Amino acid sequence: MRFDVAIVGAGAAGLHCAAIAGQLGCSVVLLDHAEKVAEKIRISGGGRCNFTNLDVGASNFDSENPDFCRSALARYTPRDFIDLVERHGIAWHEKHKGQLFCDGSSAQIIAMLVAECDAGGVQRWQPCRVDSVRVGAAGFELATARGPVEASRLVVASGGLSIPKIGASEWGYVLARRLGHRIVEPRPALVPFVCDGSAWEPFAALAGVAVPVRIAGGRGARRAEFIDDLLFTHRGLSGPAVLQASSYWQPGEPLEIAFGAGTDWHETLARAKAGSRRQLGNELALHLPQRLAQAWLAVHQPARLHGDEGVGIAHHPLDGVVYPPVIARSVPIELGRAELCAHRSPPTISPIMNSGRPLLWSYSRPR
Ligand SMILES: Cc1cc2nc3c(=O)[nH]c(=O)nc-3n(C[C@H](O)[C@H](O)[C@H](O)COP(=O)(O)OP(=O)(O)OC[C@H]3O[C@@H](n4cnc5c(N)ncnc54)[C@H](O)[C@@H]3O)c2cc1C
Repeated sequence: MRFDVAIVGAGAAGLHCAAIAGQLGCSVVLLDHAEKVAEKIRISGGGRCNFTNLDVGASNFDSENPDFCRSALARYTPRDFIDLVERHGIAWHEKHKGQLFCDGSSAQIIAMLVAECDAGGVQRWQPCRVDSVRVGAAGFELATARGPVEASRLVVASGGLSIPKIGASEWGYVLARRLGHRIVEPRPALVPFVCDGSAWEPFAALAGVAVPVRIAGGRGARRAEFIDDLLFTHRGLSGPAVLQASSYWQPGEPLEIAFGAGTDWHETLARAKAGSRRQLGNELALHLPQRLAQAWLAVHQPARLHGDEGVGIAHHPLDGVVYPPVIARSVPIELGRAELCAHRSPPTISPIMNSGRPLLWSYSRPR
């Protein structure tokens, strides 16, 4: 069969592209090898899909070519997507820092995109394997499980490598390479950190504790800093702050975490030293979850705010860089688990090391 446009991959990108091309008058076929479309949307945003952000702009996109997304974002803004959502009667709410979620479920976003495809007369073929792609005189020739397809335009929307069990494949990368495109090596983004077993032990009991942090990953021009929540897990660190920083962090670099985002530890603890008779753990627990304060002190030798044992708080390494457990990230596993698949340096497994010493926390004076 002949179409103006063939699109491989019926995820968020493929469905939206198909709907718009169809509504502009093109004949469109949308193929996916999975039984169900847009499974990644289904699990997105904890099942409620963070479908856009109010203040999103080109600077929010992490790319080797920062200009790449400018024209697309200028022509299709978050407001355009909100209008679409509202036209479909989907109730939504702002959760945190401009992040918009469905009140109901992410299935509503999938149903909306499918309805938009239907409005554009898009033919959806799934499950349908694409066995080969050839570039011919009249465009692209696809051999598919449902017979040959010819199309003037081919859109590869087969997504990244994350979550293979719901359809991700490297098909698009292989095709792009074969057609002469340069692929920037994929690596995981928005992933939790997995920490070294024995060194992590004192913190493993904190699983479930969430705390606001200022976190920074990456170096030089690639350094990015976020203020958000960090979540302790049995295996390491997660939560929105950590997921965001993971996209900038590279193996071998420190991950800087300042607990009590917004707390000036110098001032707070110096004031406490001058005017309080609390123990250091109790003083810290005024600003941090108590279990975290205790675990931190257990690793860094208990010290009193006043008194004869331990280190005086003003000299305590809270305001410096301290070096407890090894933190490591198992990249090949996490690439499959990542929310996103970014493209930059080759994946490796390596502990974060700083001058030969493992670095986990860096308590830094908020700037
Ligand atoms: C747990 C989780 C939570 C997330 N939460 C959010 C969120 O709240 N907000 C947000 O904006 N983003 C979120 N994301 C990211 C977001 O889901 C993805 O960025 C987005 O869905 C990617 O869309 P896509 O169309 O590019 O690719 P995909 O959704 O991966 O779609 C690709 C499609 O191509 C198909 N395909 C692959 N190979 C082939 C092949 N060989 N032949 C035919 N078809 C093929 C797949 O079956 C799939 O249907 C989340 C991701 C995860 C994993």
